Amino acid sequence: MVTESNVSKTPSQQDLDTIARQLGRPARDIVEVGARCVCGNPLVATTAPRLSSGIPFPTTFYLTHPTLTSAVSRLEAGGLMNEMNERLTADAELAQQYRAAHEHYLAERNRIGELSGVGEVPEINGISAGGMPERVKCLHVLVGHSLSAGPGVNPLGDEAIDGIAEWWTREVCTCEGAWDHEAPLPNKDLSRHVKTQELADAEEKKRLRRLKAEESLTASEESTEESNGGEQ
Ligand SMILES: [Zn+2]
Repeated sequence: MVTESNVSKTPSQQDLDTIARQLGRPARDIVEVGARCVCGNPLVATTAPRLSSGIPFPTTFYLTHPTLTSAVSRLEAGGLMNEMNERLTADAELAQQYRAAHEHYLAERNRIGELSGVGEVPEINGISAGGMPERVKCLHVLVGHSLSAGPGVNPLGDEAIDGIAEWWTREVCTCEGAWDHEAPLPNKDLSRHVKTQELADAEEKKRLRRLKAEESLTASEESTEESNGGEQ
């Protein structure tokens, strides 16, 4: 059934170009725009459960907006996940809601799998992401799910969204300056981070490392450019 909201989730070429610029690499295997900034730019790339390279991809709701991604990394670095894990152990109602979120996530991924023509992916059957249903291991996954599903589906994703309000909220557009809107479209995988499409956990480690590097380095990166110059 085609409704207005279905149509707006279908990625346009402009959406795909924007996502490529946000990520600094080509946008691939994107089935829907899971959530948008108030200005219309993509926040979440809803990605097929198997990439065209053949790799199973459990991170269905992938955050693409740089402001949002780094805000969630900051929140993770603050230790919220430990506290959430303790509460999941102690609070049966929360644990039950979180399990329901896991089921919702899997149902959505099945829908996306069918929509994309990928179908079932036995390797990740019953396995969601982000630590669900028992643990919290990646807030990016939970935030992506919450933004895509709307409030009230993933309680811990909703909490994480509240937790980043200092840096990002649903109501305010931070797109200007968040990435290079005029950059030439990345058409090759030149990025060192290209292998991040493997699994969310590996991705998260890299994100955190990058965030720490950004925070400690501040400004002097000229030597890196020079040393990369002769590679090809
Ligand atoms: Zn915006």
